[in-house]
Amino acid sequence: MTNLQEKAENQELPPKGLYCHIPFCATSCDFCNFYQKAPQRSELDKFLTGMELEFSQRKQDLFDAQTVFWGGGTPGLLMARDLERLGSSMLQYLKHPPSEWTVELAPSTVKADKLQSLLRMGVNRLSMGVQSFSPTTLERLGRQHSSQQVYKAYDLMRQQAGFAVNFDLIFAIPGQTLMEWEQDLLAAIKLRPEHISTYCLTFEEDTALWVKLQKGLVKRRSEDEEAKFYTLTWDILDAHGYGQYEVSNFALPGHACRHNLHTWEIGEWVGCGPSASSQIHGWRRTHPHSMQEWLQGLATGVMPWFDEVRLTDSILATDALVFGLRCNAGIHLTRLQQRFTSIDFSLFEPVLNDLVAEGLLSRNHSLYQLTPAGRLLADAIGSELIGVI
Ligand code: SF4
Repeated sequence: MTNLQEKAENQELPPKGLYCHIPFCATSCDFCNFYQKAPQRSELDKFLTGMELEFSQRKQDLFDAQTVFWGGGTPGLLMARDLERLGSSMLQYLKHPPSEWTVELAPSTVKADKLQSLLRMGVNRLSMGVQSFSPTTLERLGRQHSSQQVYKAYDLMRQQAGFAVNFDLIFAIPGQTLMEWEQDLLAAIKLRPEHISTYCLTFEEDTALWVKLQKGLVKRRSEDEEAKFYTLTWDILDAHGYGQYEVSNFALPGHACRHNLHTWEIGEWVGCGPSASSQIHGWRRTHPHSMQEWLQGLATGVMPWFDEVRLTDSILATDALVFGLRCNAGIHLTRLQQRFTSIDFSLFEPVLNDLVAEGLLSRNHSLYQLTPAGRLLADAIGSELIGVI
């Protein structure tokens, strides 16, 4: 039995999360490599039937989930009655209504009837893929919505009291200036969503943007340029009351996303739907990135898992360290030691103390936190820690 299983049984773990992947998008954005397909009616119906089957097959896993996240894809592409069908089939297996339930919505999909359905079911958080308010930047990203659609969608969300709102924004896009990014941030801040996530553009293989990069049509930003975007982001959001709690995430007081926090605390989560990942019962594994294979796995009871990893305490402990450091709260080595008793955390101390000496970490007894300089190198620091044990 791994430490994770023991802790789950003793209820010492962060609350369990449930992620549902809704794999439909009207068009493909240039930067995106998530599994998604065109929303034909017959496919939507097969997907909904598949989800009902998966929920019932995994009802014991779902039972004590406390936070829920519907992502995609574009969950908002589902019609109100489909959202209700998916929601009611999920809710019947949960012991309690989710304390936090987020649904991702693309601006062009936001409609009053869908919002009413979501609110009725208990959804209390909406996440909108805004990406930018600038028509030029949206075009550079291959996004199909306009800033007018963002404003209209946000108005509708605010007309229905009860939702906290997150905006996803992207920076360091080829051609985007620092001033344009500042204008995007200020436009978002002016609307006062409770939460803002900001992502540095990455070039993922098999995306339209990757092809443009290969053809020399766009250029990657240098690390120095990216650092300027990061620090501008942190300064502006902080000055306007958005506290940073993770490298990419900022919230007004009391509005950090608990589902994501629990994931970074390396608890258990259940992933339903094609391409969704789970971390439960000592395994981390991902459903096939194919609706057909996922449906077949459900029908036959033999899921062709993808990226299957048997979890050991050293994997979990290293992840808790790496993801914990990305959070502003940092990591308490003694608390991790109490949680992962089979691991000798003193083995990490030489690396951590070198990072302190380099000014990338601060240390207060057993609490280690990234400094702003360290936060810019969070990925590289994570890589240094992987493989220590
Ligand atoms: S970014 Fe979102 S809307 Fe665009 S293709 Fe990816 S999943 Fe679909």
